[in-house]
Amino acid sequence: MAGPKDSLGFVIRFNYNETVMNAPTETSSLVRQHLIDPEICIRCNTCEEMCPIDAITHDGRNYVIKFEICNWCNDCMGPCPTGAIDNSRTVASGQPYSLEDQYSWDSLPAPTNPEIAATELPEDVTRITEIAQSGQGGPSSPPWSAAHPYVNLFAPNKPVTATLTGNFRITGEDASADIRHIVLDFGHTTFPVLEGQSIGIIPPGTDANGKPHTMRLYSVASPRNGERPGYNNLSLTVKRVTEDHEGKATKGICSNYLCDLEKGAQVQVCGPYGSTFLMPNHPGSSIMMICTGTGSAPMRAMTERRRRRMALKEGGELFLFFGARAANELPYFGPLMKLPKELIDINFAFSRVPNQPKQYVQDKIRERHEDVVRMLKDENCYIYICGLKGMERGVDEAFRDICRMHGEDWEKLLPVLRSQSRYHVETY
Ligand code: NAP
Repeated sequence: MAGPKDSLGFVIRFNYNETVMNAPTETSSLVRQHLIDPEICIRCNTCEEMCPIDAITHDGRNYVIKFEICNWCNDCMGPCPTGAIDNSRTVASGQPYSLEDQYSWDSLPAPTNPEIAATELPEDVTRITEIAQSGQGGPSSPPWSAAHPYVNLFAPNKPVTATLTGNFRITGEDASADIRHIVLDFGHTTFPVLEGQSIGIIPPGTDANGKPHTMRLYSVASPRNGERPGYNNLSLTVKRVTEDHEGKATKGICSNYLCDLEKGAQVQVCGPYGSTFLMPNHPGSSIMMICTGTGSAPMRAMTERRRRRMALKEGGELFLFFGARAANELPYFGPLMKLPKELIDINFAFSRVPNQPKQYVQDKIRERHEDVVRMLKDENCYIYICGLKGMERGVDEAFRDICRMHGEDWEKLLPVLRSQSRYHVETY
């Protein structure tokens, strides 16, 4: 039985029962093995108690998962207080890590899968990422507690086919911006993503020179366990582009393609991409999110991850600064308003509300200077900036002013934030 193939022609399958776990296939195949990170695990026994099929066991050293039994039901995922349970490695079929291997580990082995080691990032992705991250002075590293990302599993010339299962407008009916929440389902193909990663979409057809359209990058807007928990799907936040940067009418090829798609449509996807704009996973870690418009996609993913884990009371604050033209133009305005106050502190900045002064995220940051400086100095607080290129300078100036007000020096603090992997910028 041959399943969907990855960029190197390997068959990729979950080790679900219905795909015949570890059964030999006519080609080399890769399977995803569920593993527990021994570095983060606090040995609380919750996962073993929650597992309905006794796939989890332990010795005096580590908690481990029996590959042959685990069916990825995910009953163990939510209750795990640290996220240690939320790990996996792609392994060659028939060669999973044994229980003895897992008992001996101090930390998870680095991914050494051929699909990760052997392929270089597509040129487009490298170019776009360099521009997006230029605001932090080059590439950053992920927070020390971030989960391990999978990158570049599907190359643009060997994309995976996903099925569109949802396309919902998330700006008001009277809004000028048509921003949509797009849900893609990957069926039985492994397409693991973390909050903060992006994927490539390849629109069908050719450009003016008769060449196939190149892929466009979109940030994932859903948390790692799917738009719908336990489903193999993810979501994107897509704005229908109708004008260029100068305001001249133009029709964005990929955004219009996606925004017009109907349920059941097949979409060519490559990626995932991004290994640094990742959220911290350790209990007590706080996140300051600053975004404009559709730059809210990764923030939605991180917030949703935290919302789903609220009952675990892991602590840490969520602080959001979100800029849009007006409430009806702000993606996810309704759902954001319904979030519990104890989960997230939301600060909207609206720039085009009649009879009201123009406000940008940096104005709101200044208003909240006491909390902002406290969080900048907190070693457990991680800062994420995503959206329009223009906001970078304004946010930087706001941080500098706030530091000055509170006897701190932004010029000295910023390199510290960078060295601690606490400052992440992706602006376009
Ligand atoms: P937009 O609607 O044009 O603008 C959002 C808000 O930002 C508006 O209130 C705007 O105010 C304000 N703004 C403009 N210049 C600013 C500045 N210098 N400082 C602070 N705020 C400023 O935004 P958009 O069209 O959604 O664009 C979002 C950006 O995010 C795009 O560049 C996109 O590429 C990027 N992005 C998208 C994704 C995705 O997955 N879709 C992911 C990451 C990033 P005005 O009233 O002055 O216009």
